[in-house]
Amino acid sequence: MDLLKEKIKKDGIVINEHVLKVDNFLNHQVDTKLMDSIGEEFANYFKDKNITKVVTIESSGIAPAYSVASKLNVPFVIFKKQSSAILDTETTIQTPVHSFTKNTDYILMASKKYLSENDNILIIDDFLANGQAAMGAYRILKEAGSSVAGVGIVIEKSFQDGRKKLEDLGLDVYSLARVSKISSNGIEFLD
Ligand code: 5GP
Repeated sequence: MDLLKEKIKKDGIVINEHVLKVDNFLNHQVDTKLMDSIGEEFANYFKDKNITKVVTIESSGIAPAYSVASKLNVPFVIFKKQSSAILDTETTIQTPVHSFTKNTDYILMASKKYLSENDNILIIDDFLANGQAAMGAYRILKEAGSSVAGVGIVIEKSFQDGRKKLEDLGLDVYSLARVSKISSNGIEFLD
């Protein structure tokens, strides 16, 4: 998605060769026009997959997830991050996830109320690095008995192995920008 790549080139800040900061349009301040285009792009790609719900992980996946869900005319569900396990396993599904940016573990949690065996779900997230967040969401969805239609990622760091892990699970991964290299000389993309 050329518009997104231009935005990353213009406003993306290189923290180090593994981490990109995009607080200006995605992670802190949100560019609503860009989110509209991002939603359009995902909706167009996944439109024939009979998606019943979009799922994302708080908090940076919320803006793109809202955008695609509204274009597909379906609800979206926010999976929550907790610092420790919740006692209520009757009504919630939980799984541990390792955070790439914080280098700590958290518990990803969803209410069973919003997921069912009849759901065909699109997972949306802001970044794909080692695939831990998306795989955590996938585990919760499998436990709920839902089908997973695919994974939509705004920025994939293709030099990390998240895509491979998700594809090994048989998932269709669609990323709007695939970053091949981050360095002090700038940000490079795969075609
Ligand atoms: P993964 O779980 O795939 O290893 O990492 C993806 C998650 O970590 C995303 O939800 C995102 O919040 C965060 N993340 C990973 N890499 C980056 C990065 O380079 N920049 C930012 N801002 N977040 C990242």
